[in-house]
Amino acid sequence: MKRREVHVVIGAGIAGCLSALTRSRAGYDVIVLEEQQARSGGTYPVCTRTSNIVSENHSGAEYPFDPQSARDCLDGRIENERFFPELIYGGKTYSRIIASQSMMDDGHDIVGQCRTNMDVIRAHYAQRCEEDPANAVFGEPSVICREVPAVEGVDDVAAGFLTPQRGMNPVLVSTVLDWELRQCGVDFREGTRVGSVNRLADGRYEVACTAADGTGYTLVADQVGLCLATAAFGMAKRLNPDIEFPQLFMALREILYVDLPDGTDKNFTCLKLEDSYGGMLSPLNEHVAMIYHPPAAHVLNRVMDPVSCDPPAEYAHYLAEGHPEMRERARRTVDRLREFYPELRRSTVLGTYLKVAINTVSDSRVRRNIGVFGVHSGATMTVLPKWTMCAVNAKKELALALEHSRATGNMRPDEARDILAASTRACWETVPEWARKPELLTAQAKKHAANMNVPEALALRFSDVIGLSDAP
Ligand SMILES: Cc1cc2nc3c(=O)[nH]c(=O)nc-3n(C[C@H](O)[C@H](O)[C@H](O)COP(=O)(O)OP(=O)(O)OC[C@H]3O[C@@H](n4cnc5c(N)ncnc54)[C@H](O)[C@@H]3O)c2cc1C
Repeated sequence: MKRREVHVVIGAGIAGCLSALTRSRAGYDVIVLEEQQARSGGTYPVCTRTSNIVSENHSGAEYPFDPQSARDCLDGRIENERFFPELIYGGKTYSRIIASQSMMDDGHDIVGQCRTNMDVIRAHYAQRCEEDPANAVFGEPSVICREVPAVEGVDDVAAGFLTPQRGMNPVLVSTVLDWELRQCGVDFREGTRVGSVNRLADGRYEVACTAADGTGYTLVADQVGLCLATAAFGMAKRLNPDIEFPQLFMALREILYVDLPDGTDKNFTCLKLEDSYGGMLSPLNEHVAMIYHPPAAHVLNRVMDPVSCDPPAEYAHYLAEGHPEMRERARRTVDRLREFYPELRRSTVLGTYLKVAINTVSDSRVRRNIGVFGVHSGATMTVLPKWTMCAVNAKKELALALEHSRATGNMRPDEARDILAASTRACWETVPEWARKPELLTAQAKKHAANMNVPEALALRFSDVIGLSDAP
């Protein structure tokens, strides 16, 4: 690179963290602006908003009704397998995707649908492996999906499926990302709210910020990455009124963390498919689980304002103050899931979280990637419909940034390809010394649990070593 460019990344959820990491590894000077503040000393407030309730690194198995969703998720899963260390799984093994007996009894062939989807996943993986042998991260295509007749300790099971889908622990993700951001020397400015971004006559960008103490200031950047979830669309539209977005649905969802006073012997997520038949039990360790029951969780579903591209106005109120039905919906979730998962018998709710999911259709059974938008040359926008797509989209975003550097003559055309490959390399290639000591690792993870406003128990990992027989 002829001159070091300054890049500003707005938002430090999973999208912003990966954008900052990859841009920094590429040789840019990166400033991250995040409006939240850390509650724990010596940490960055990463993944404190939507990304604090994520549990599944999808394989597409959860989307048996839409092959494109399955393929998009599998692409994400392959790229994530290369990018994240084993630690993020916290001792969890592969998720069990469960087809309900009651759904079969009601005349819906969910088992057949899942079997067909296994073929979609197998075929797509085989194609990806053929395109590039480095994609063969889960072994031979013929063995990546497996059907199991029962899932011990779960009621109402017609069939179970093992695929590359795997539950992870969001607190451990933050622990990894925080360390990696420090290794890259990213300039992380917490408590900084971005009000607007404008394009200057010379093609650079002016970013208007308000610091935690209320002081306003502006930054000038060569390039910007908008990674501020639902707020990104409106900011992008104001930056470039000509940009077109597809119709987007923003769904208000409720998800819970509960305790497990009787423990659990499941070091994996159980995902029972389909609406009233379904629900998720995702133990993070023997003490705490995340649970989700679609009919209780789906609070509202509104389209994004097509003109302003802002999220539905009432959402800001609910996210700040809560929704009047929150408690009742939490109760319904626990009651219903007790019918499938006996370990919830004495569970109590540790935390109820309202979040916004972004989708291209109103149907939650479809979850296609919406990709990365080039807002202007030098300005990108990454909004993730699924956490699982984070590494795939970070790569696309970096390719756009490198292309801008090339177009402005700041980078030689032959440099970009090598830089792209080197910048998307794995995190924690060398495990930090402190992370080898369980008590230090847990202490660091606890700090992130506090930042993320999730139960402190999430800092603990399943003690079991993952058995090879669990691999799909
Ligand atoms: C209930 C629920 C469960 C889910 N479970 C899964 C799952 O299991 N697996 C999966 O793959 N996906 C899941 N998802 C989707 C996943 O949560 C999202 O795709 C992902 O977390 C989005 O990450 P993000 O970085 O785009 O957004 P966020 O994590 O929300 O990050 C945006 C950041 O921008 C910051 N910000 C916003 N405005 C400003 C501003 N003006 N100035 C500065 N900073 C700002 C915010 O503080 C925040 O830190 C789930 C979604 C929901 C709703």
